[in-house]
Amino acid sequence: MQTPFFSALVSKVARPFAAASLAAALTLSASASAFAQSGLAIVRDAEIEALVRDYARPILKAAGLKSGVDIILVNDRSFNAFVLGRRMFINTGALLQSETPNEIIGVIAHEAGHIAGGHQERLRDQLARAQTMAIVSTLLGAGAIVAGAATNSNELAQAGGGIAIGGGEMARRSLLGYQRTEETTADRSAITYLEATGQSAKGMLTTFKRFQSALSLSGARVDPYQISHPTPQDRISNLQQLAASSPNYERKDSPELQLRHDMMRAKIAVYTDGQAGASRLFRNNPRGLAALYADAMVTHLHGNPRSALAKVDGLVKQQPKNPYFHELRGDVLMKANQPAQAAEAYATAVRLDPVKSGVLPVSYGQALLAIGKPDALKKAVTQIRSGLDRDRENATAYRYLAQAYGQLGDIAEAELATAEGHYYSGAYQEAKIFAARAQQKFKPGSPGWVRAQDIINYKQPGKKK
Ligand SMILES: [Zn+2]
Repeated sequence: MQTPFFSALVSKVARPFAAASLAAALTLSASASAFAQSGLAIVRDAEIEALVRDYARPILKAAGLKSGVDIILVNDRSFNAFVLGRRMFINTGALLQSETPNEIIGVIAHEAGHIAGGHQERLRDQLARAQTMAIVSTLLGAGAIVAGAATNSNELAQAGGGIAIGGGEMARRSLLGYQRTEETTADRSAITYLEATGQSAKGMLTTFKRFQSALSLSGARVDPYQISHPTPQDRISNLQQLAASSPNYERKDSPELQLRHDMMRAKIAVYTDGQAGASRLFRNNPRGLAALYADAMVTHLHGNPRSALAKVDGLVKQQPKNPYFHELRGDVLMKANQPAQAAEAYATAVRLDPVKSGVLPVSYGQALLAIGKPDALKKAVTQIRSGLDRDRENATAYRYLAQAYGQLGDIAEAELATAEGHYYSGAYQEAKIFAARAQQKFKPGSPGWVRAQDIINYKQPGKKK
C-alpha cells in the first residue's frame, strides 16, 4: 500500500477536479498526488486521533501541561513519539507495536516527563514554530528527508534559526536525543503521572525492555525512539524497581479500552500490511470484533464493495453507535460510486461522534461534493468548513473546499481555500500566489480579503528578510 489511511481521501484527490477551468484546481490535483506518493503522509483518522487523545489527556493534565496538545499521527512503521511545543507526534508504528493501551500510555507519560522537565527546551521552542509538515518531513524517516530536502528541511533549518541539519540519522540524533540524566528524570516523572492517574508503569517498562532486547517489530534495524531515548541496563533496573513498587503495577486496562486499542491496531495493520498484517495480529482471536473490523477493511480495500458492505453492516449490528463503523460504511459506498448513500453514512458518523472530530465532516463534505448538485455543493461547503473550524490545519480539507467553491463558481473563495491548503502544507510561496489572486476578487476589507492579506504578509520564523 503506497497510501495508507488515505485510501478514501487519496482516491478522491486523484480524481480530476471537476472545475477544469480553475488553474488552482489543476495545480492542486498535481501536488496532491505528488504528496500521496512522497510517503510524507500525516495520518488523519478520527478514530485513532480520538483514542490517542484519550490516552494523552489525563497524563498531560497530571503533568500540569494544561494547554491543549495536538496529536499528530505520522505514517511511519518505526517506533517513535515526541512532543514539540503544543504538538505530540506519534508514529503509527509505535501504536501498532504497543500491544496494550498501557504500553503506549507509558511512552506518552515519559514524553510528558521530558516536556515538564524542560529538556531540550530551546530546541523545542525553535521547532515548535515550524509548520507540522516541515517538522515531519525533516525529522522522520530517511525517505521523508530525501523527499523533503529541496524545500521542507530547508524551511525547518531556517525556522530553527540556523541549526545545521545534516539529514538522516544525525539530524534526529542531535535534534531529539536526550541526556542520560534527562532519561532518568523523565522516567521518574512518568511514574508520578501514571500513579496520579491510577495506571501501571508496566507498559512503559515493557516498551523500553523491548528496545533493549532489540525485539522491535518494525523491521528497521534501530527505531528512532531507541536512539533518542537510550536504554542502558541500569536505567531499566531502576525503572523496574520503581514501577513494581506501585500498588497499580498489576492493574490492567479496561476491556473496553483494550478493544478500542485492538481496533486501532487492526486499522493500522490493514492499511500498512494488508491481509497479512491483520492475520498476524489476530492469530489468537480471529472472530473477535477487532478481527472482523480488519476483515471488513481488507475487503473494502482489496475486495468487492458488495461483500465489504455486508461485513460492515455486520459490524454496525454489533456496535450500532460506533461512529467509525458508519465512517467505514461511507468509505465503502464512496468506492462503490454511491455518493448519496455514502453521504448518509458519513452524516450518521458525524452525528454519533462524541468528540466532534474535524475529520468526519470533511468526509461527509467529500461525499456531498461527489453528488455534485448545487444544493449538495452548498452543504459540502458547510460541512467542510465545520470540519475546518475544529481543525484549522487540515491541509487536505482545503483542497475539497476549493473544489466545492470552484464548482459553485465562487472563484475568489476557491483560490483562498487553495492558498490556505498550500499555507498549511508549508508551501508558502504557492500560498502567497493564490492569496494574491483571491484578494483581487474580494471586496477590500472583507473577511476573505483580510485572510488573504494575512497569508501574503506571513513571514517564516527565523527566515532572513
Ligand atoms: Zn526519553
